[in-house]
Amino acid sequence: MFKDGRWIGPILDQHMHLDRNNRYLEAVNEFVIAGGTAINLVHKPNFSKLPVSLSEYRSVYEETLEMAREVRDKFEISVSVILGPHPVAWENQIHTLGLEESTSLHIQAVKLALEYISLGDAVCLGEVGRPHYPVDEKTWAASNELLLEIMRLANEAKTSVQLHVEDNGEKTYSDLAKICDESGLPRHFAIRHYAPADITQEFTHGLSATVSVGKGSISKIVECIGKSNSFWGMETDYLDDPRRPGAVLGPKTIPKRTHQLSKELIDNGYSEAEVSEILTNIHFTWPNEIYS
Ligand SMILES: [Zn+2]
Repeated sequence: MFKDGRWIGPILDQHMHLDRNNRYLEAVNEFVIAGGTAINLVHKPNFSKLPVSLSEYRSVYEETLEMAREVRDKFEISVSVILGPHPVAWENQIHTLGLEESTSLHIQAVKLALEYISLGDAVCLGEVGRPHYPVDEKTWAASNELLLEIMRLANEAKTSVQLHVEDNGEKTYSDLAKICDESGLPRHFAIRHYAPADITQEFTHGLSATVSVGKGSISKIVECIGKSNSFWGMETDYLDDPRRPGAVLGPKTIPKRTHQLSKELIDNGYSEAEVSEILTNIHFTWPNEIYS
């Protein structure tokens, strides 16, 4: 889908948060004007007021679903919702509720998200995972047990998970692949969010990846693309948080990087038809297989 040498097909941001109290629709508008056509709206936890009961989880999930409806009404883009309790919320609540209570609440919140997914209101469980910062041994062991249980539940529900995890390169992937296999969840249904640009098979172990496409990521993707054999895509992890403007990428990033990828592939000798196939895969065909 090229017109005068420019990609005019689908452009999906696979991991974006929005916040009614921050830039919200203005941020979506920026994405749309830049050429974006679809977003995965990922539930954003409010760390200063975390839910302490299942009914509170229900109301914060409803808020995310409501934003998705509003964005669909206002813009001609497709919005898919990713719902789940954040692993950092679980870790934080160990200090307030205790390990047992925090874990039980977390599992209940996972099951609730799976209900919304079975109703078709959401397409994927996430972000779930484990703390991305060092924790004591007991907490680390508990977080791995919890993740195994979450993956089992996702597998029973035949849904994928978007994973928020530490960044320890290939080791993180090989760890996750083990947990995945033990749970029965197909590896391509485990999607590493905020993933590095290395999309080669040796690195990802067959897990799916949504690459955080910061500076330099596109040349790395181009270098790896021939050695990739699993699903990958692009994300900003836009936080819609004025206090952390530089923490993640802005709403225009995915359209911008898509055009950059297209240009670099063409410069490397790919034909428009080949580039078209790649861009259709990452922004449309593969997402349809892993989010439903
Ligand atoms: Zn996120």
